[in-house]
Amino acid sequence: MAGGRNSSHRLDNRMWVRARYVVPLCGPPIKHGAIRIERGRIREIISSKKKPADGPDVDFGSAVVLPGFVNAHTHLELTHLAGRVMPGADFTDWLRRLMREFSADARLAESAGECVEDRFAASAMEGMRLSLAAGVTLVGDVTSHCAAVREALSHGPLRVVSFGEVIAIGAIRGRLADRLQIALDASSVSETLSIGVSPHAPYTMESDGISTCVEMAGERGLPMCMHLGETRDEVEFTLEGTGAFRAYLEGMGLYDSLIQCPKLSPGSYADRCGVLSARTVLAHGNYLSDAEVELVALRGAHVAYCPRTHAAFGHEAHPYEKMLAAGVNVCIGTDSLASNPSLSVLDEIRFVRRGSDSIEGVALLEMGTIRGARALGMGDECGTIEVGKRADLCVVPLDGDGASDPVENMLASTHAPIATFVGGERLKRTRSA
Ligand SMILES: [Zn+2]
Repeated sequence: MAGGRNSSHRLDNRMWVRARYVVPLCGPPIKHGAIRIERGRIREIISSKKKPADGPDVDFGSAVVLPGFVNAHTHLELTHLAGRVMPGADFTDWLRRLMREFSADARLAESAGECVEDRFAASAMEGMRLSLAAGVTLVGDVTSHCAAVREALSHGPLRVVSFGEVIAIGAIRGRLADRLQIALDASSVSETLSIGVSPHAPYTMESDGISTCVEMAGERGLPMCMHLGETRDEVEFTLEGTGAFRAYLEGMGLYDSLIQCPKLSPGSYADRCGVLSARTVLAHGNYLSDAEVELVALRGAHVAYCPRTHAAFGHEAHPYEKMLAAGVNVCIGTDSLASNPSLSVLDEIRFVRRGSDSIEGVALLEMGTIRGARALGMGDECGTIEVGKRADLCVVPLDGDGASDPVENMLASTHAPIATFVGGERLKRTRSA
């Protein structure tokens, strides 16, 4: 079981969570912070050294209480690929190796008389467990196995916006209607799981297909996710129709003469298809030009920067600071364990911190919490420690008392979160099955 709930902290549904610091991210750090939780929501935030008289309390001592982390872009169903597909400088080579692993898994499942969908669902459940253990309480999760994965994840406790992935190009463009129907299936929607649509990327979708996804998502008021501007090769493909992605599609037997080159940069192409709006999370955005960044800002689309995946593929420096300056809502994603060593947003933030001191620690934490919540349409419900919001929290130990700056202290350390709360309930730590 992933993240079972600890009944000892459910007394009356009312409790206090205390620590040396509460970092609410909607205001300055609160020393000797105490948060009163009732019926799953934050009711009061005070500074007090004393044990509160009204209700049970958990005192974490020398630690920081933060809003639960938000992983704006991941693929939990690929958790079982950890260590099996190493990223490298050649992105399409990595894609081919990924496809080979999928085929090997399908053969294994078949020979064992198992359903391959169940394997992806089990993998997603392990991803949920790892996410919660890393203090992540909300994810934007892309899935190609919607029915099984959504059913598995729908029972919580992790909050999931499940983007159904649509791939339909060239020889498989006829799959569009089927794939879209599967992606839009809302039968597993629950208190913790909602759905969205993900036209995968400019090199796996054609403009008609992308526009249809936008239309269907718009009619239903659903959020969207699209991989965009991830590689230089993608820019060549949308501008010229040539290069590594053309070769990739030809090698897969998918390329045909009906595939039209848009002759536009990825950002302009996505805009022409209607993708750029406040309902869309753009995964990566590594190679968006200044003009495209302005366009993304103008349309209000969000960008999920995936720092360690970005580094593992050896990309040029990510323009996230330029994006923030332009007014783009930049959030943090881990991407999947097929390209990243963990599902921890805190690990991503610490990685960025080690490579740059030009951005404030608090700004990085915002990218890993409230900005991600906004990108997933849940900024009013979570992402900060604020009265009225859901009590989704994570607790990270300090080195010493952290008196000079609790945020920088916590980012400079390597301590993993010691507790995660979702909707006011503290999750029990569980080991992998
Ligand atoms: Zn991705």
